[in-house]
Amino acid sequence: MIPYGRQNIDKDDIDAVVEVLRSDFLTQGPAIPAFEEAVAKKVDARYVSAVNSATSALHISVAALGLGPGDILWTSPVTFVASANCARYCGADVDFVDIDPDTFNMCPKALEQKLIEAEKSGSLPKIIVPVHMCGQSPDMRQISKLARSYGIKIVEDASHAIGASYDAAPVGSSQYSDITVFSFHPVKIVTSGEGGVAVTNDPEIASRFELLRSHGITRNSDLMTGASDGPWYYQQIELGWNYRITDIQAALGRSQLTRLERFVERRNALATEYDQLLKNSEIVLPGRDPLARSSFHLYVVRLPKADPKRHRSVFESLRASGIGVNLHYIPVHLQPYYQRLGFASGDFPVAEDYYHRAISIPLYPDLTEKQQDHVVKSLEVALAL
Ligand SMILES: *Cc1c(COP(=O)(O)O)cnc(C)c1O
Repeated sequence: MIPYGRQNIDKDDIDAVVEVLRSDFLTQGPAIPAFEEAVAKKVDARYVSAVNSATSALHISVAALGLGPGDILWTSPVTFVASANCARYCGADVDFVDIDPDTFNMCPKALEQKLIEAEKSGSLPKIIVPVHMCGQSPDMRQISKLARSYGIKIVEDASHAIGASYDAAPVGSSQYSDITVFSFHPVKIVTSGEGGVAVTNDPEIASRFELLRSHGITRNSDLMTGASDGPWYYQQIELGWNYRITDIQAALGRSQLTRLERFVERRNALATEYDQLLKNSEIVLPGRDPLARSSFHLYVVRLPKADPKRHRSVFESLRASGIGVNLHYIPVHLQPYYQRLGFASGDFPVAEDYYHRAISIPLYPDLTEKQQDHVVKSLEVALAL
């Protein structure tokens, strides 16, 4: 089976992990700040907090911004559930903004309309989480202009997008947001096994990350109530979690980062090749925003129109030919958990139309030209059935 995504592990990665295994620290050691510094350089961010997943990074991000019961967070319906769940962890409510049909990212026009209505009904969100679907930045200029005019904070879920850029700056420089989050799950651009980071340029938010990722505990006497009892002393000054990453993971992540540009270039080259190979097909190709350079975590093609029966048969045919196609994503509001919160089919029609047409075809650095040809031929066969 040719999977839709796959990690690339080389000898340097293995050596970096083994070196940690032979060292004094498996966790809370020097590999973690070294990894964080490497991420900060790559994405042009001032502060980086590495944690055990992007899900945890999203949670500490919205918690650091003070999200709580009675607050509302808006995100895109076409994303992994974690972009929305982070609000639920804080007891806040979730709502969604429909997507742009060409880029699959949060639609600024839909956002503008929804903000006008929410202001009238007194239900404005505290935080908006735009998602970098497939590795391509959303229209952050417009989204941030709108959010700022209402005093709303922005957390970019760039889980797909390390190594991407937008408006001539690396994604992660947060020029249009308060915080950016990346994932290092093995299907993403670079991996640490499991892992994620929350990055910001705001020192106060960064110090909140430090507390929240490790139980709300500090050893910094400036943050303590009263004087230190002695060299052993620490204080828990609020409620945090154990979201720490290990040195083993951090060392792998840091080694992987040295190949970030290569991975992103290869993914872009393969995507351009798909554009060429499929340009005369009836299949609809992913739209590109001229301001963005995608990291191409995913290459999503669409059937010309929503047709659940055909969609399923194309999937089954491709899987039978050994192509591990996938679907990113089932719109979050259609999940039973979110339906129990009151969302219903029909709420976000552009996202639902996308769901009935989308197919993620294989894309990862080690995909060969021969395999890519096999994917394209199998897709043609499946469409002709
Ligand atoms: C993968 C992913 C996450 C969660 O990442 P983990 O590191 O697996 O927790 C969140 N949001 C999006 C858009 C993702 O693709």
